[in-house]
This record gives sequence, C-alpha cells and structure tokens, in this order.
Amino acid sequence: MKVTVVYDDCLSKPAMKTGWGFSCLIEIESQPPLLFDTGADGATLLHNMKQLNIDPDNIGVIALSHSHSDHTGGLLAILERNRHAEIYIPASVMVELPGRKVIRVSQPTPITKAIFSTGELKGVEQSLAVRAKSGILVITGCSHPGVGVILDVASLQGELCGIIGGLHGFRNFEKLRDLSLICPCHCTQHKYKLQELFPEQYVMCGAGLELELLS
Ligand SMILES: [Zn+2]
Ligand SMILES: [Zn+2]
Repeated sequence: MKVTVVYDDCLSKPAMKTGWGFSCLIEIESQPPLLFDTGADGATLLHNMKQLNIDPDNIGVIALSHSHSDHTGGLLAILERNRHAEIYIPASVMVELPGRKVIRVSQPTPITKAIFSTGELKGVEQSLAVRAKSGILVITGCSHPGVGVILDVASLQGELCGIIGGLHGFRNFEKLRDLSLICPCHCTQHKYKLQELFPEQYVMCGAGLELELLS
C-alpha cells in the first residue's frame, strides 16, 4: 500500500506547491484509491496531483476529516473531475452535495476492506485506521478530538504501527513510543520535539511524500 501526501504546509518534492492544509491519497492493491481531505484550494491540489500522476477521476472514495476549509477547500475541484466517488463525512458536517453518494459517519465504520473510519470523535472529526502488514496506520486531519482519543479508537482495529497527519498541539509524546512510524504533518506544533524524541521513527512530512508499506 502507498500513502502519498498531496497537500501540506511543507514540501517534500520540488515540483510541488505548498498550502496551509492537508490531503493524502491512500492506494491499496485491488481497492479503490481513497483521497483523505482536499487541502485548502483546488488549484494547488490539482497542480500537485498532476505532478504526482494522480488522475482525480480514478479516486473511488473521498473522506473528509472535518469541516475546516484547510481540509475541504479542494473538494469542489475534485468533484468537477470525478462524478462517481463515494464521500464519507463526519455526521455533523452540514454540506449538500446533490447527486452524490454521501455517507455521514458517526460510529466507527468500515470504508473499504482495509480502511476504517474512527467515526466522528467529540462531534468534530473522523480519522482513518488503515490495515497494513505491520499493524494499523492512523491517518489524521488536524486531530482536534485529541491524538490520545484517536489512537484509542483506532487501536480497536488492531495493534497500531504508525501515525501520519496533523497532530495540532499534541504533547503527550509517550503515547507514540510504541509506533514504528511517526509522520507529523500540517498543523503539528511540536514537530521538532517529536523528531528529537523519536529520531528512528520520525518521517518528515511534505507535499509529494510517498510512503510505501506492506499490505
Ligand atoms: Zn487543519
Ligand atoms: Zn482543523
């Protein structure tokens, strides 16, 4: 399986553009590619997709972590180029998308064979739990419900192996000790501290980053 960061505040490949927000694509063999969040603007998102050879029309599922515009701003640009994707949104998000298959998530919910939603946590945000060979990879938007809560719910799907995404002001660092992959993105305030504490597990996030994990 592969996770590609399509939109982030930082850069991982020179041809990419940055923006305040987050989006990543999750590709797992013989399953529809899933786009998690859409960044803050369609132009940057589409530019980066083109550089990464990602065809928006190939996306089978779109999941939005929460309603903030730095995660939803590129949605309409994708929907203009993709008429068929199923869209998973937290139940509290009030958005009308006529003619689209929208699934409103409140409880932990399977999305594809290997990808689960944590459900909407604390009435604000869903994260993903993705099954890899080495365990569950947690993918977050901003982590507004708190990283600890997200990890606890994701771990119901199995032993955790890593986390990627925005961690906001999270500083209960011990909670990450057992993970083999720590890739803080976007709004994470304590990236340097995490890198210092977990140099072996730490992966620098940025638009264009491609992470390959065994399925
Ligand atoms: Zn954000
Ligand atoms: Zn947010």
